[in-house]
Amino acid sequence: MPNLKPKLAMYWAASCGGCEIALANINEALLEIDAYFDFMFCPCLLDTKRADIEALPDKAIFLTLFNGALRTEENLEMAELLRCKSQIFIAFGACAASGGIPALANQHGISHMLETVFCGSASTDNIQGLIPGATSAVPGGELELPAFLQRVLAVHEAVTVDYTMPGCPPEPEQIVAVIRHVASGNPLPGNGTLLGCTPRAVCDQCEREKRGSLAARLVRPFEALPEAGWCLAEQGFACIGTATHGGCGALCPAVAMPCTGCYGALDLDADPGAAALSALVAVVDPGESSGKAEADIHAHLRGALAGVADPLGTFYRYNLATATVANRSPEVDQ
Ligand code: SF4
Ligand code: SF4
Repeated sequence: MPNLKPKLAMYWAASCGGCEIALANINEALLEIDAYFDFMFCPCLLDTKRADIEALPDKAIFLTLFNGALRTEENLEMAELLRCKSQIFIAFGACAASGGIPALANQHGISHMLETVFCGSASTDNIQGLIPGATSAVPGGELELPAFLQRVLAVHEAVTVDYTMPGCPPEPEQIVAVIRHVASGNPLPGNGTLLGCTPRAVCDQCEREKRGSLAARLVRPFEALPEAGWCLAEQGFACIGTATHGGCGALCPAVAMPCTGCYGALDLDADPGAAALSALVAVVDPGESSGKAEADIHAHLRGALAGVADPLGTFYRYNLATATVANRSPEVDQ
């Protein structure tokens, strides 16, 4: 007998699998999903094949949660296929939304990246210097790997996305709320809406007190012990909660770790990294500026901000695919 429940699909492209773990972490609410949906495609849980999806009529899948950025041609083909077969297509998690950690590779060309990963890292033992290619001769035939796209893409750069759920990964209670809403049949918000987050900053959910003080300089987490109950940014830790969408419950500052911005930039019209940098500059003491040359003030600020060891990885950690500074390395075209 055919399963008449609305079909639910979840797919992972270039991702770590954390989004699937977040779905598993909704625990008993999985039974609600099973009661309402025919959960029929999820490569890490189910054995449905790509050919099964290709055989479906267009729009046969009611809801697809697509996680991961687009790194390979296969990722791109699956995004196009699932978009075509889905009524509602959600970019699920930071990598799908804005490239996430995989998009940090956009700083470099593909050959440089492959050489670094397969030959250059301290923990790699690859005496022959073998680097995987699109095709390789193996005993019994030829092995094909999906080719890399020239750069990592956020999903909306390739296909139309109905909604975006930010987070690395989205928090289980947000996942449950969104799925319950979709299953309820209640009207959905307009296309393009962010789901599963709040319109206010992480600071709004953070219990640390802002005292209006300025930090002498930025420090890395291992350099100092933060004082309990006091805003981490004001203590000099690179917490970018001010520039980040709330919705996670301010999980990281609650355990004394600075917010790294995984719920996405609060101001969607601004460059996300510039917004994060400017949020931090606002809590750094500019020093005595009267009578000082502008160059000296800049030098002071540069010194105060030197505690950020990896500016691109700090300010654009989850969004380099869509940032204004994306793909400026001449190497990327090689
Ligand atoms: S900047 Fe960070 S620590 Fe400070 S209030 Fe915002 S989220 Fe909390
Ligand atoms: S505090 Fe920031 S980095 Fe941590 S889960 Fe929330 S949005 Fe993500």
